[in-house]
Amino acid sequence: MAAISHWINGRTVPAGPDTRLGEVTNPATGEVTGEVALADAATTEGAIRAATEAFPGWRDTSLAKRTAILFAFRELLNARKQELAEIITAEHGKVLSDALGEIARGQEVVEFACGIAGLLKGGFSENVSTTVDVHSLRQPLGVSAIISPFNFPAMVPMWFFPVAIAAGNTVVLKPSEKDPSAANWLAALWQEAGLPDGVFNVVHGDKAAVDTILTSPDVASVSFVGSTPIAKYVYETGTATGKRVQALGGAKNHMLVLPDSDLDLAADAAVNAGYGAAGERCMAISVVVAVEQIADELVEKIAERTRTLRVGDGATEPDMGPLITAAHRDKVAGYIDAGAEAGATVVLDGRDDVPADGFFLNPTLFDHVSPDMSIYTDEIFGPVLSVVRVPGYDEGLELINANPYGNGTAIFTNDGGAARRFEREVEVGMVGVNVPIPVPVGWYSFGGWKNSLFGDTHAYGEEGVHFFTRGKVVTSRWLDPSHGGLNLGFPTHD
Ligand code: NAD
Repeated sequence: MAAISHWINGRTVPAGPDTRLGEVTNPATGEVTGEVALADAATTEGAIRAATEAFPGWRDTSLAKRTAILFAFRELLNARKQELAEIITAEHGKVLSDALGEIARGQEVVEFACGIAGLLKGGFSENVSTTVDVHSLRQPLGVSAIISPFNFPAMVPMWFFPVAIAAGNTVVLKPSEKDPSAANWLAALWQEAGLPDGVFNVVHGDKAAVDTILTSPDVASVSFVGSTPIAKYVYETGTATGKRVQALGGAKNHMLVLPDSDLDLAADAAVNAGYGAAGERCMAISVVVAVEQIADELVEKIAERTRTLRVGDGATEPDMGPLITAAHRDKVAGYIDAGAEAGATVVLDGRDDVPADGFFLNPTLFDHVSPDMSIYTDEIFGPVLSVVRVPGYDEGLELINANPYGNGTAIFTNDGGAARRFEREVEVGMVGVNVPIPVPVGWYSFGGWKNSLFGDTHAYGEEGVHFFTRGKVVTSRWLDPSHGGLNLGFPTHD
C-alpha cells in the first residue's frame, strides 16, 4: 500500500507516528491502495513557512530565468503525461483518455503562463502633468494557496499554479485527500524542471489544513475550487483575514434544446456532457431543458445512445468509469430513489446491473422532471440526467435564470438570432452554442456566476494574472529644477 505524504521544501516529509491518515482507494475495484497523511496545523504551517522563505529569492529571479523553468516544466509534462494520466485513473476512476484530456486543459494554462513576460508589461504615460510621468507595475503577492477538489486532481491545480509561479509567487497546494498522488507527481516534475525548493509545496489534508491556510497571516491569496458550501466558507473566512480569495463552487448546468436544432447533435452532446467522467464534472450537463414539441424525440435519441455506453474500469478505456467513493455512489443512488418516488419518469435506471466490485452506477435518465424535485434542485455530481420540458425559449431561459447556480449552460439551435439572444440574456458565466461543455480555452477566463463563484476574479487567463499580482501605478517627476522644492498640497494635474 502506498504511503502518500507532503512535499515541503523540495522533499517528501513522511507522516509521523501520531499523524492522522486517510484511505485512498481505486474506485474501479474498491481496493484500498494508499494511505494519505492528513496534516495538522504545525505541518501546514511548515509548508507555509517554506513558501514564505522561498518568496524573496523567487520574486527576484529574473523573468528570463522564470520563463525558462516554465518552458522546461511544459516539455516534461507533455513528454510524461501518460504517467500522470495513469495516476489519475487509478485514484479518481475516470477513463484514461479523459485523464489525458484534463492534463491537456491544464497544460494550456502552463503554455499561457510561458508568455508571462508580455502579460506583466505595465503602461507608461508621459507628461500627465507638466514634467510628470506615470507608469504601472505588476508585482507578485507572496504565498498563494490552492485548495482543490477531487474531480480534477491535475487540471484544477494547473488552473492556478502556472500563473502564480510565473508571476513570482510561491505556492502551497492542498489537493483533495481522495486522490492526492497527482499533486506529488507534479511537485517532483517542478523540481526536475529546475524550480527552486520551497516555491511549490504540497500539503495533504482536510479541514484542519484548510483552516490553517485560511487563518495564516503569511498566506496572501487563496484559490479554492469545490462545493458551494465550502467555497462560501473559504471565501468568508479567507477574506475576513484580509486575503484575496477566488472560490469556485458547485453547479447545476442546463442545456436548452430548441425545436430547430439538430437533434442528433443535441442527443450526442447530452450523453457526452451528462455521463462523461460519470457526471463528476462541474461543467457536466445535468438538466436537459427540452421544448415540448421535440421532447419525445429527443428523449428517445438520448436513451438510444445511452444504452450503448460501456461502464467499467477507466484503465480499460470504457465510456464511463466508477464514482469516486462508495459513500458518493450511495448518495447518487439515493437521488435516483428520490426522483423515482417524486414521480419523475425513470427512462433508464442506473441502479440496474451494476458491476459487483468498485463504486459503479450505470447512467440514469429521468424525464418529466419538475423544478421542485431534489434531482432538479441539488447538484448530484453523478451520471444522472434530468429532462425538464418547457413550452418554448422564454420559459427555458426563465428556468435557467431562476437557478441559484450559474457555472455553465448551453443552447442547441440553428437559429443564429436565438443563440445571440441567449448568450446575452442568460445569467450564467460560461455559455455554449451547440457546445455542451463550454470550458474556455486557457487564455480566456474560467468562472461561473451566482453560487458557482465567490469573489470577483476568475481562474486563469488575463484575470488570473491580475489575481496573482498587485497592480501599482507610479507617478514620477522628471528631475527638472524648476519643479523642485517642497509641496505638501494634494497632487493635482496642473
Ligand atoms: P469539496 O468541497 O468537498 O472539497 C474541495 C476541497 O475542500 C478539498 O480539498 C477538501 O479537502 C476541502 N474541504 C472539504 N470539506 C471541507 C471543510 N469542511 N472545511 C474546509 N475544507 C474542506 O468538493 P469535492 O467533492 O472535492 O469536489 C466536487 C465539487 O467541486 C462539486 O461541487 C463541483 O461542482 C465542484 N467543482 C467546481 C468547479 C468550478 O470550476 N466551479 C470545478 C471542479 C469542481
